[in-house]
Amino acid sequence: MTEHSSLDARAQEILARLQRMRQADAPTHGGRVLSYVYDPGNAQLDALAAQAMEAARPLNGLDPTTFPSIAAMEGELVRFATRIMHGRPRHVFGTVTSGGTESCLLAVKTARDLWREANPRSRARPRLVTLSTVHAAFQKAARLFDLAWDPVPVQADGSARAEDVLAHLGTDVALVVLSAPAYPTGAIDPIAQVAPHTRARGISLHVDACFGGLALPWWDGAPAWDFAVPGVTSMSADFHKFGYAPKGVSVLLHRGRARHRRQFFATTSWPAYPVVNPTLLGSKSASPLAAAWAVVEYLGASGYAQAVASCRRSAYALAAAAERIEGLRLWGEPTGPALALIADDSVPAYRRVDPHRWADAVAAAGFHLQHQPGSVQADGTRLPRSVHLTITPVTESVLPELLAALEQAADTVRGRRPHDAAVLGRVAGALYPGGRAPSPRTCGVLLKLAGVGGGVPGKMAPLMALIEALPAAIAEALLTELLARTSEE
Ligand SMILES: *Cc1c(COP(=O)(O)O)cnc(C)c1O
Repeated sequence: MTEHSSLDARAQEILARLQRMRQADAPTHGGRVLSYVYDPGNAQLDALAAQAMEAARPLNGLDPTTFPSIAAMEGELVRFATRIMHGRPRHVFGTVTSGGTESCLLAVKTARDLWREANPRSRARPRLVTLSTVHAAFQKAARLFDLAWDPVPVQADGSARAEDVLAHLGTDVALVVLSAPAYPTGAIDPIAQVAPHTRARGISLHVDACFGGLALPWWDGAPAWDFAVPGVTSMSADFHKFGYAPKGVSVLLHRGRARHRRQFFATTSWPAYPVVNPTLLGSKSASPLAAAWAVVEYLGASGYAQAVASCRRSAYALAAAAERIEGLRLWGEPTGPALALIADDSVPAYRRVDPHRWADAVAAAGFHLQHQPGSVQADGTRLPRSVHLTITPVTESVLPELLAALEQAADTVRGRRPHDAAVLGRVAGALYPGGRAPSPRTCGVLLKLAGVGGGVPGKMAPLMALIEALPAAIAEALLTELLARTSEE
């Protein structure tokens, strides 16, 4: 436990209580959680980030003219991101945001505003074309900024076809989003194949590299995915993922000053200080920015290249294991530090491994993988339930133990039938037709009945089966209830 010698007794007791609460948390270091956390396995970086955060703690990121250090650090981060993503200096401009979601939201808002400007007389609701594997942040953006989300189905193996995206283009499309890579599969979308067409039609094209932006620049053999592709108009990349900065920092880059400026909000129409906000927040912490800046200074391109080389070795080892373990297989063709596994339908059911039962068994061995429920696409085709692994440099240090845990867990659950909540799904659908959702109280009862009430579930497979079986509105209400209740005790 940390010593806080300069603090009085009361302050020390408060911090001791925080430390006790922190003991309930999943381990953020050491490679045991293969999602959420991005551990470079380097204690220097943690100490550096902590001190940089502390140095910037009193600042308000609201006003870089009062606190010029913020503008200086932001400029350096934006130029670093521009360089590694092949943006021409003085042609690409950008902003540091509070995270991937904020970068995505602002990319959509900017494109919508530009579309409205270009189509002043259109009565159409602008459309947001993505693949169905796009990050959920874009659904959020469509809802917040009133666009019609138009998800293009992918193939059952998770791969996307350029011609399917092109078939969705039209004059009402404000933005096309492609991913590098898509989070669920780890696959890079056909960016170079789509871009010439959006470009010819004057449609904005965002590449969501929130996940891969700080890894793919050093991943040899990746298909073209960045500003080197003409027609890519904006890109997002998260420093709080493979940039190894603490949470709260991402970047959004635009091709051209005019596009970048469309992202801003400014007003003089109130009786206080003139407001100009490049992002969604007003007052904001500069600490994540300072930490990201310090980590980038420390690692430089060569440090990131080394980190990526480690991720790559682990990714290949894990992909090979996925092919080797009977009853499971790799989902599609990932490029980069993420992959997903699905059940291998080519073996008989008694040799098959249900991925969600498997991930629960892996969790019992101390490694936390991420369950992804199966889903139905807009055209009625199904995507399989899967398990996601995010691979970081620290993964390599636990690789033998991890591989053994993956194989043993498969042996434990091989042949067991997948969880199925279809009956409950049909009953719930009959009770709550037409997208209606149950009340918070009923949701609580349903969660108890399904055995997932009372805080965060230790076994995820039954909850995932429930999500797959229930109408989306009910599943979303249940998840809302589950999360809301975590802080009500
Ligand atoms: C992480 C991520 C985002 C944004 O998520 P945040 O959790 O808000 O940082 C967007 N797209 C992809 C592909 C991602 O992996």
